[in-house]
Amino acid sequence: MAFALGAMLLSIILAGTTFALTRANLLSQRESAVLSRVYVDASVVKNGLQGGDLEHIQDQLLPSLQLPSGSRPLVFFEGRPFSLTAQISDKDIPPALLDTVRAGHAARMTFSLQGKPALAVGIPIRAVNAVYFELVDLDDLQRTLESLGVSLLGASLFTTLAGAGIGFWAGRRALRPLADVSQAAEAIAGGRLDTRLEATDDPHLGVLANSFNEMAQALQDRIERDARFASDVSHELRSPLMTLSAAVDILETRRDEMPERSQAALDLLGAEVGRFSQLVEDLLEISRYDAGAVRLELDEIRLAEFVMQAVRASGNGVNVPVELDSELASVVVQADKRRLARVVANLLDNAQKYADGATAVTLKRVDDRVQIAVEDDGPGIPEDERDIVFERFARGGGAGRRGSGEGVGLGLALVAEHVRLHGGQVWVEGKNDNDETAGARFVVELPVLPT
Ligand code: ADP
Repeated sequence: MAFALGAMLLSIILAGTTFALTRANLLSQRESAVLSRVYVDASVVKNGLQGGDLEHIQDQLLPSLQLPSGSRPLVFFEGRPFSLTAQISDKDIPPALLDTVRAGHAARMTFSLQGKPALAVGIPIRAVNAVYFELVDLDDLQRTLESLGVSLLGASLFTTLAGAGIGFWAGRRALRPLADVSQAAEAIAGGRLDTRLEATDDPHLGVLANSFNEMAQALQDRIERDARFASDVSHELRSPLMTLSAAVDILETRRDEMPERSQAALDLLGAEVGRFSQLVEDLLEISRYDAGAVRLELDEIRLAEFVMQAVRASGNGVNVPVELDSELASVVVQADKRRLARVVANLLDNAQKYADGATAVTLKRVDDRVQIAVEDDGPGIPEDERDIVFERFARGGGAGRRGSGEGVGLGLALVAEHVRLHGGQVWVEGKNDNDETAGARFVVELPVLPT
């Protein structure tokens, strides 16, 4: 925009100046040519008027003047105007000019004669008490100036457009490195922590690229360090937990020998150790994601069969009906079996924990993707919590209502990571759009392999 405006302003100034100067120049050239001739003609008229009769003026004197085309003479003599053609009369002379010349002063004026530009020059001829005028058409001058104006306007337009074009090109060229930076930043935000900017010879951009790369490296180091820490801690916790689990199992075998209060304590201990082990497993898995160490073991799987098996295997969902269209029976996706099974199991577990079990698992194809939805008739998830429940350690209002022993808030975060790694997405919606407290539908969308 600035380039275009600058080019426009400059070209308007240049065109305006050129036009004004040319106009003044052409006009003054024409005027001086006319002036030098008019004096000669006036002296011819003066000689002719001395002793000549009035008839002679119109018939001989005026035609004898050597005038170029476009110039017309007019003589006032003894109170009467004389001209060569009837088209020109004393009314055509501007009154101000007529008065000045009659008062005894030579004068000239440009004015509009019958709608066209013209120049009038008047000279008093005192010796015979007459006034001589010459009217010169400036039509050709006007035409020249008009074509000059059109050319200048065209040139200005072209210059403005060229300015805009150059500005656009220069702007894009100058901003291209910034586009690279923004792409790299997006890639890093998307999890590709090893993204770096390419080195460049440009000293200014070099500094930017260097500091960006240093920042990205520092960020990567830090995230990896944090992830390693979480992973180390989880690892260290694993073996004492296994010992604890084993001890609880041994105690379980002697359960009958225990008094009732000890049995209750053992149940509590067993549940907590189970929960703790699950937490540690989830933490280990999630820290693997953070370290970028997760590699999918992809297999081509028949989704319908796989989901039915996963539902059956999840134990608490034996009676959950799986609904699918016949065409979905043959749909194949590329997925990591263990992780996809975990996704389905997590969603079914959640339905069990928060909604007394899933009511249905449906499979639906949408273009080149397939949606696996787990529905329940529980309390649903309020609209403002629907993104938050997928964050780590996020526990919705529903968890609070159902007591603290349920989960730690990593289940859905893991589901989201698993699905993202498969190139899909997961979200939750209300089962019934009008009533957000009537059931939840968790939808996992995965890309389908082309058949
Ligand atoms: P948790 O370990 O607490 O189950 P999740 O990540 O699996 O963690 O779930 C996060 C929160 O989402 C839960 O605390 C719960 O409030 C809510 N939630 C998950 N599934 C459902 C569901 N089917 N119905 C209602 N709320 C749910």
